[in-house]
Amino acid sequence: VIEAVGLRKSYGTLEVLKGLDLSLDRGEVVALIGPSGSGKSTFIRCLNMMEVPTGGTIRFRQKPVGKQFRDKGEEIGIGTLRRHVGMVFQHFNLFPHKTVLQNVTEGPIVVCNRPKREAEELAMDLLAQVGLAEKHGAYPNHLSGGQKQRVAIARALAMQPEVLLLDEVTSALDPELVGEVLAVIRKLAEEGMTMAIVTHEMAFAADVASRVLFLDQGVIAETGSAEEVILNPQNPRLQGFVARFK
Ligand code: ATP
Ligand code: MG
Repeated sequence: VIEAVGLRKSYGTLEVLKGLDLSLDRGEVVALIGPSGSGKSTFIRCLNMMEVPTGGTIRFRQKPVGKQFRDKGEEIGIGTLRRHVGMVFQHFNLFPHKTVLQNVTEGPIVVCNRPKREAEELAMDLLAQVGLAEKHGAYPNHLSGGQKQRVAIARALAMQPEVLLLDEVTSALDPELVGEVLAVIRKLAEEGMTMAIVTHEMAFAADVASRVLFLDQGVIAETGSAEEVILNPQNPRLQGFVARFK
């Protein structure tokens, strides 16, 4: 459903991504692991064009994604891509002056022109799925980190994305709150959501991902099943990396 072909990204003279290839099939869950600065965030930000690549192509639904907002001829526009490829960040970026429910209905109402009632029904459904229905009237600063992150996931799901990109969504959380967020993601994986997940939670990655990619210095240094990459790494740098996060 989404593909990166020979993806490159430089910031000035710093080449961060040096030609990456990834093809995500529907229902597939890929985990991206790698040292700090290896380009994991840059990579998944390029996948939904939050960062514009300096080389290579993103393809969505078998079509190349252009640099313009709207679809044009054979090209998918950035607007269409973002509409269907959701993203959740390490820092939840909830709207502080909106309630939980308003945070979740904002996208469908504003971007998709959904009627308010319909958006609210969907939102309540999603909040129930992440275990937060009773918090719909609360403001983000009255929630724990784990609750905020579950709202952020519900907000992304409210756009009914075809692909969900998750960038270290548990890294900013207190350890005792990590489990509740991972449980939500695990359930999404079981329900067949297509996801690319950047994580340092090796056990979680091994458990939930059908494929694991090890990014190192801007290239995919190793790729395979969780069994191969995390439990039985061959590449010496990967061995060192995995050992540190066990
Ligand atoms: P971490 O595990 O710490 O989140 P990462 O693998 O996600 O690391 P990136 O955030 O993708 O790494 O960064 C890769 C490299 O690109 C780093 O050297 C970083 O300093 C650089 N970089 C990222 N964003 C920018 C930017 N907007 N301008 C300049 N350099 C950037
Ligand atoms: Mg990062």
